[in-house]
Amino acid sequence: MLQKARTMLKKYFGYDDFRKGQEDIIQSILERQDTFAIMPTGAGKSLCYQVPALLLDGVTLVISPLISLMKDQVDTLQNMGVPATFINSSLSFAETQNRISQVKEGKYKLIYVAPERLDSAGFASLISNLQIALVAVDEAHCVSQWGHDFRPSYRHIPAFIKQLPQKPIISAFTATATEEVKKDVVSLLTLNKPNIYITGFNRENLFFSVVRGENKRDFLLNYVRTNRDQVGIIYVATRKEVESICKGLQQAGLNATLYHAGLSAEERKENQDAFLFDNNNIIVATNAFGMGIDKSNVRFVVHYNSPKNMEAYYQEAGRAGRDGEPSECILLFAPQDVSLQKFMIEQSVFAPERKSNEYKKLQEMVDYCYTPNCLRKFILEYFGEENVTDHCANCSTCNDDSELMDITIEAQKIFSCIVRLKERFGSTLIAQVLKGSKNKKVLALGCDRLSTYGIMKEYTEKEIKDIINILVADGYLSLTAGQYPVVRLEEKVIPVLKNGAKVYQKVQKKKEKLTKDNSLFELLKELRKDISTEENLPPYVIFPDSTLQEMSKIYPLDAPSLLKIKGVGENKLQKYGDQFLTQIRMYVEEKGITTKEVPAKETTNVSKKTGKTPSHLITLELYQKGLTLEDISQQREITLATAQNHIIQCALEGLAIDLDAFIPQQYEEQILKAIKKVGGEKLRPIKEELPPEVDYFAIKAVLCKYE
Ligand code: ADP
Repeated sequence: MLQKARTMLKKYFGYDDFRKGQEDIIQSILERQDTFAIMPTGAGKSLCYQVPALLLDGVTLVISPLISLMKDQVDTLQNMGVPATFINSSLSFAETQNRISQVKEGKYKLIYVAPERLDSAGFASLISNLQIALVAVDEAHCVSQWGHDFRPSYRHIPAFIKQLPQKPIISAFTATATEEVKKDVVSLLTLNKPNIYITGFNRENLFFSVVRGENKRDFLLNYVRTNRDQVGIIYVATRKEVESICKGLQQAGLNATLYHAGLSAEERKENQDAFLFDNNNIIVATNAFGMGIDKSNVRFVVHYNSPKNMEAYYQEAGRAGRDGEPSECILLFAPQDVSLQKFMIEQSVFAPERKSNEYKKLQEMVDYCYTPNCLRKFILEYFGEENVTDHCANCSTCNDDSELMDITIEAQKIFSCIVRLKERFGSTLIAQVLKGSKNKKVLALGCDRLSTYGIMKEYTEKEIKDIINILVADGYLSLTAGQYPVVRLEEKVIPVLKNGAKVYQKVQKKKEKLTKDNSLFELLKELRKDISTEENLPPYVIFPDSTLQEMSKIYPLDAPSLLKIKGVGENKLQKYGDQFLTQIRMYVEEKGITTKEVPAKETTNVSKKTGKTPSHLITLELYQKGLTLEDISQQREITLATAQNHIIQCALEGLAIDLDAFIPQQYEEQILKAIKKVGGEKLRPIKEELPPEVDYFAIKAVLCKYE
């Protein structure tokens, strides 16, 4: 059975090996055992039920919490050639019935449904004579009120399963591993003597860091600027701040959008899609964003505020780097974050026992922010792992290259000023007094007569406030709760004022960019974007970044080599292989790269060896017989873009093609001008210079004609 599972893994998903834990989980399901898998976000849970679904007789019902993402999940599967569909309230009754009858005909192996659907009597009768082999409950922690996304409708799953004519195998998947949640999943979902698998929680490719005492806005802006081409999520605690941060990034020329529950459903969908499709590479969002999002090329997740507990943090941060490529998880901490979280707990309607549990978890979150030890060790031990090494070499503690700067004098001046102000004011007024501001309030309060007035003239008010924040983060000062926090002195101040104890500030060295420039990778991304626009599928559904990265390192030049790349399965090879191969060959030729792979020209020979005419030559043959490219794409079941690329490939190989037939005469001059203006490396910038009716094919034809 496992051998068959491996075959499916390669054929559909394009992967050679299972990741840690996947094999055991799949085996357990195939042995018809109820199975409960706890794996961190991005570890590859979905594959653990998708592979068995392909092998079991009957269909697999996947219960997934978010309707808005089902289409995306199903598109991803269909694009790999896995027969899957979804049924939810976005479909008409007729379409629902149509899909069910297609399931009955054996057209689909997986059906995605939302838990709410299970309550409907109509649905139960619709599927009553379907053979359901496996029920996979995704995000199973939603069944537990201890989990962070409790969904009452998850409680109805057992009743639904019970009324099925045959008991299916039940499998449950979550990233939440607390004891309460574990117990609830097993008992509330009525798992029968389940095999429980808890894979390691480590995500090796993620770099964790906590940043304290920095001006958050400045830090964020610098960081995003440095990584302006990368895909990232910025989590912010409140809607208001989401709006203002997003605006700030946009004003700085960064390509950001936003998401929070206060937006209309259409706006949310639009912004989410813009992010999924890489039209906006940055999304600023509250924690309403992200559950079920499996965009695999997220390179960084920044938490602008500390979340309420480690479970929420690890789940949100874990949305970075699902493709296994190096990615960063940065938490910007300020003591005010804790006050906000405490306020939310206080305002909640939880029972006292639950509230005290929430406080405890919040404290553990704060401990993470202050730990002087390895951050990864802290996380893994929090989730119950044992024998964790002390140094992971991939977190801000283990890679601390910051320098210490002596700020004792500044600290003493600030402390004295606060003493003079009798600990009655906030950081703004303190900074104004130290700066020597002539602000009305400062003068009205007579602060200009204080001995500390103007003793930090050489600093800006903002710089003084930043130092105050650092002193708060390091426990010298504290802030009272409420809208206008007052700065208070802590005990740690005494040795500094009395005995001249030193105060230091950590200064981070300038961060490097997350990834090095790689021009083939950029070109492949462009190509993926073009296909994505054409097929209306998010780019990562075409290929994840990791697949494009591997292509741009290995330079596969023919179909067998391309199939060896992780993430290229048979279906995708057939659909997209030609286009990617053409791009890689062009690049290799242009740069004069010698590769270990078969040289480009021999590709044709390889095909000859197998006795098959290369795909682009078949297209050419049909074209020469008088078929249009549209006809050819229909007849050969390839996309129009693929047929067009075949023609370009033929032209590049020196075959006689009349490129003028594809260049609208009235635009030729304009296209040439655009190429001169923005260069011929990337297609999109050229397209943006031109009227919308000029398509990519015309641009490629011009590029090819004028080489
Ligand atoms: P989870 O549901 O656990 O958060 P996913 O199932 O979305 O994670 O998987 C995360 C990413 O890992 C996906 O892009 C998936 O294709 C990839 N992946 C899963 N299993 C493997 C594997 N065996 N080899 C390589 N990549 C894998």
